[in-house]
Amino acid sequence: TPTSRVDKLLGSMGYGSRSEMARLVKAGGVVLDGVDLTDVSKRIAVTPDLSSRMEIDGEPLDPPPGLVMMLNKPLGMTCSHKEDGALVYDVLPDRWRRRDPAISTIGRLDKATTGLLLLTDDGALLHRVISPKRHVAKVYRAGLARPLAGTEAELFAAGGLVLEGEDKPLAPAVLEVVSPTEARLTVTEGRYHMVRRMFAAVGNHVETLHRERVGGLALPDDLAPGDWRLLDAAQIDAIF
Ligand code: URA
Repeated sequence: TPTSRVDKLLGSMGYGSRSEMARLVKAGGVVLDGVDLTDVSKRIAVTPDLSSRMEIDGEPLDPPPGLVMMLNKPLGMTCSHKEDGALVYDVLPDRWRRRDPAISTIGRLDKATTGLLLLTDDGALLHRVISPKRHVAKVYRAGLARPLAGTEAELFAAGGLVLEGEDKPLAPAVLEVVSPTEARLTVTEGRYHMVRRMFAAVGNHVETLHRERVGGLALPDDLAPGDWRLLDAAQIDAIF
């Protein structure tokens, strides 16, 4: 288990500067296991359950580093830290946006794509999810401008399709027909505008795109667009 000085930990979690944290500890604002911390240089074990053991100004500590969250991404938000307009990070509490390591999306969804978006401050976990070698399945539901021709499933399943402007053929993908103009597509790669470009490659056009699932983790029915929640250990395991 990693340990950290309490002022450094709180500082990295966006609570304030090291000197502000020193003042907070002195003022009795930090309680661990029911005991007022008095020593700002105290090293504490950064365990996943720390939020249930530590209080800052009477409130449970934010989740310590190593968090994973899911967002039901609404239309119109961009997966970027810097672009103009509405960003997915706008849904996070202000303090969570000042964390170091920062919370980032695990892969990206287009501005016009909705559904399950994972975020984490754990770089190793992020790479495990997006690495094509891991074959974590991403399941999308696509609404199409034109009826399916009937040949798409076989074409995608064969693999080897080359997207416009690329050289590397696609890995096999699974298409399930939902209705004449709706399909569910399961892919294990994460290329730029991948699903839209796959349907463009077969002469169709994606009008709506929604991610239902990442690995074994499905978007819960009761998570409304724009809402998010933290994943517990079992949900994180379910991804892989
Ligand atoms: N494929 C796309 O084209 N867009 C997304 O947002 C995700 C997958």
